[in-house]
Amino acid sequence: MSKFLTNKKLVPYTPGEQPRGRQYIKLNTNESPFPPSEKAKAAAKEALDTLHLYPDPTCAALSASMAEALGVSTDEVILGNGSDEILFFAFSAFCDANCGAVFPSITYSFYSVFAELCKVPYTKIPLREDFTICPQNYIGLAKTIFIANPNAPTGIALQRAEIETILKNNPAHVVVIDEAYVDFGGESCVPLIHQYENLLVVQTFSKSRSMAGARLGMGIGSKALIQDLNTIKYSVNPYNINRMTMAAGMGALADADYTKKNCAEIIQNRLYTTEALTALGFVVTPSCTNFVFAKHPQISGQTIYSRLKEKNILVRHFDTPEITAYNRITIGTKAQMDAFLSAIQEILEEEI
Ligand code: PMP
Repeated sequence: MSKFLTNKKLVPYTPGEQPRGRQYIKLNTNESPFPPSEKAKAAAKEALDTLHLYPDPTCAALSASMAEALGVSTDEVILGNGSDEILFFAFSAFCDANCGAVFPSITYSFYSVFAELCKVPYTKIPLREDFTICPQNYIGLAKTIFIANPNAPTGIALQRAEIETILKNNPAHVVVIDEAYVDFGGESCVPLIHQYENLLVVQTFSKSRSMAGARLGMGIGSKALIQDLNTIKYSVNPYNINRMTMAAGMGALADADYTKKNCAEIIQNRLYTTEALTALGFVVTPSCTNFVFAKHPQISGQTIYSRLKEKNILVRHFDTPEITAYNRITIGTKAQMDAFLSAIQEILEEEI
């Protein structure tokens, strides 16, 4: 740290390990095990020819396709460099020293980083003992609310009606619903945007559309909310989506069947993994995502993480006390999950 840094307290987000060299089965960052759509790849390749030109700052073509796919209008969509950027825009636009942020105590850890970065006071609301979010705790809070639905790293989803309770009871504040994992079994709140002017839904191409490396996310909300986010975007980085990513996004949207097929396979592999882990004595939360969150009553989360790593399998372990017994395991292909389960079986035999 230099003596010039103004915000010396800022603790940045720690991304999951991206190993180089050694070959791991990578079940630690909730990426898709499937390659991007052939249509996405072909479109991105074609875009190489025009890289000497700036990309369209309005992302008109992709926004229109996205809006059509979601059943909203183009001016109700904004695209971001990953959904992380949309979340940053939301913190910048809808929170300040007077209007703080609130989110669950166990959730996507970037929310508190954005709050610190934007110098926004924030409150964390504890989950119930079973790791579910209690909507009654989010009534009339007079703060901007951030909820990942399904939540991460628990994988547990709230129903749309429960989110509606939160929306109705905070009419003067924005409620951001982060739907990064919604395509794996959650109930999207996008159909509610015309009913609730305070609703901002955030989604991503990183998970279900196999495009984590392209960095493409979107915000969906009322025209006025999207205008506010555009004010931030045009104050930070008007060309936030590069030409290759924009083209790949169009390709992915044109290949919706491929996305659907991959999601179905992940859901099937999740069920398979959950049943196998449960049979081995693990406690597994009911996940609606492309990962499971699991603990064993006799072996610590840290031990399971380290022993798996020795066997060339990476999962995500968090040091947070309430969840230190758990690991978050991304759902991969059937072959990857079989390799993971065999390794787990060996660890159980060696450790118990
Ligand atoms: N929200 C949640 C809950 C996430 O887990 C992630 C992925 N780390 C993101 C948002 C950000 O995803 P991306 O920026 O790749 O769209």
